[in-house]
Amino acid sequence: MRLVFDHLLLPSGWASSCAIDLDELGMIRRIGSPSEAGPLERVTGWALPAMPNLHSHAFQRALAGFTEHADPKASDSFWTWRERMYRLAERITPEDLEAISAQLYVEMLEAGMTAVGEFHYVHHDRGGARFEDRAQMSLGLLSAAEQAGIALTHLPVAYVHGGFNKAPLPEQSRFVTTPSELLAIKQRVEECARGRPLVRVGIAPHSLRAVHEAELRELVSGAGEEGPIHIHAAEQTGEVQDCLLHLGSRPVRWLLDHARVDARWCLVHATHIDDTELADLAASSAITGLCPTTEANLGDGIFPAELYLRAQGRFGIGSDSHISVSATEELRLLEYGQRLAAKRRNLLRDGGETSVGRSLWAHAARHGAHAIAQPIGEIAVGNRADVVVLDGDHPRLLGHGAATVLDAFVFGGADRAVRDVFVAGRRVVEAGRHLQRDAIRLRFLRAMQRLGGMC
Ligand SMILES: [Zn+2]
Repeated sequence: MRLVFDHLLLPSGWASSCAIDLDELGMIRRIGSPSEAGPLERVTGWALPAMPNLHSHAFQRALAGFTEHADPKASDSFWTWRERMYRLAERITPEDLEAISAQLYVEMLEAGMTAVGEFHYVHHDRGGARFEDRAQMSLGLLSAAEQAGIALTHLPVAYVHGGFNKAPLPEQSRFVTTPSELLAIKQRVEECARGRPLVRVGIAPHSLRAVHEAELRELVSGAGEEGPIHIHAAEQTGEVQDCLLHLGSRPVRWLLDHARVDARWCLVHATHIDDTELADLAASSAITGLCPTTEANLGDGIFPAELYLRAQGRFGIGSDSHISVSATEELRLLEYGQRLAAKRRNLLRDGGETSVGRSLWAHAARHGAHAIAQPIGEIAVGNRADVVVLDGDHPRLLGHGAATVLDAFVFGGADRAVRDVFVAGRRVVEAGRHLQRDAIRLRFLRAMQRLGGMC
């Protein structure tokens, strides 16, 4: 199969009238001139490497927009939001999870995100009762991903404690999973994922407050040499204080000192880091997982991204709670948070790059792909042909050429310019619409009706 793009963003820059040849699995075998004989499909517009979404709790999509009313009697915070989220988690059925996730994955694909890291912790039935198949909820996510045609890196989460030296709360009973039980779930998912080239399986210790040192060691040894290993690092100042109290160290510092944080690792929400943590995290081979819209929505704080990037740190993006599902909004908010804090402009650029939109997209695509162990993020031989095509006729892109089109896309309100999306060379979004949008939306509507009133 051969696709010929009018404009294609390669690691070396934009190429015009560029062909990619694919094998039967949608992997890129050749990039070059379209002149050779054979059938081909021509694609107009601006084609880019698709964006990985490295951090998702799919079920939380059902809560989006339901937690923006202030409580007149109390001050809202991450922790009050978490109580609402737990109420949803207590009620969700396997069917609900599958329907909600499929809808979410359609939205991701329509936003140009073709692979998702699913940080999944609702493992059990209500009250913590075990499903006959311990991996039932995980398998629902695999099914949702297959329906939508998105690549999935499944990250089953170990959640052992309710906090440092705290027993789990009753409302956490659906999450509570020992390392050995979790590794069994992981193994079961791996068996089911055999023969599905879009699925990867990693592991996720939830956080240092939920997984203590000996459990973390057991999980990491079960993750193998490939990983990936994801952990919530330092989202809230309260958990940093707790960690100092119980472990004598800030969470990112503790991980760097005790957990052999290497290229397998992704530290999600490393929001609260001091200068030495920042330098050492940047010097490690780990990726930082940033979720700017969720971090803003929950009032977490601002990650020092400019300093981190200047120290050669690497990051990818995720939509986490799914209050928004937009790669451009994540990147825009990331840059704008830095501008507001620094009172300067055009801050998040890799060395030598002048276009902030292009630099942000390329950086997050490349390193986000590494974080979830998916062979995407750059249009390159050996990678999978996950490609996003922007509509060159979209009003917000008119007048723009190669030098500025990604700035217009990321900063210029052109979120809806995503016209076509290919996963493994197969078109899943056409003219801005996912090909299964209506059927999946209907199942989501029924799930929301079933859950009605609880949110
Ligand atoms: Zn999270």
